[in-house]
Amino acid sequence: MNWCNNGLHLEDLSVVVARLGDFAASLRSMKMAKPTFKSEEMEKTLIKMTGIDRRKCITADICTWCGKPAKNFKDAISEKEYRISGFCQKCQDETFGE
Ligand SMILES: [Zn+2]
Repeated sequence: MNWCNNGLHLEDLSVVVARLGDFAASLRSMKMAKPTFKSEEMEKTLIKMTGIDRRKCITADICTWCGKPAKNFKDAISEKEYRISGFCQKCQDETFGE
């Protein structure tokens, strides 16, 4: 068989397939068992990409976009938006429109 000539045996292939199956299964169980794992990784990735620690800024009431204090919001919706995106009122108005 050509498999043997290439130094690759059918048994090896089945082991690889089995390992891939295990890997996929562990990924699935990880995702289901730890729903916060992904968001935590996402936060880290975002911090790496943007250089901004969004949660740190929000905790300190600082806009993640312009870096100015974000304390005054015109309504509860804008304040809620700040908790999500970290944008102050001015940046929200400029980004999302009034
Ligand atoms: Zn701002």
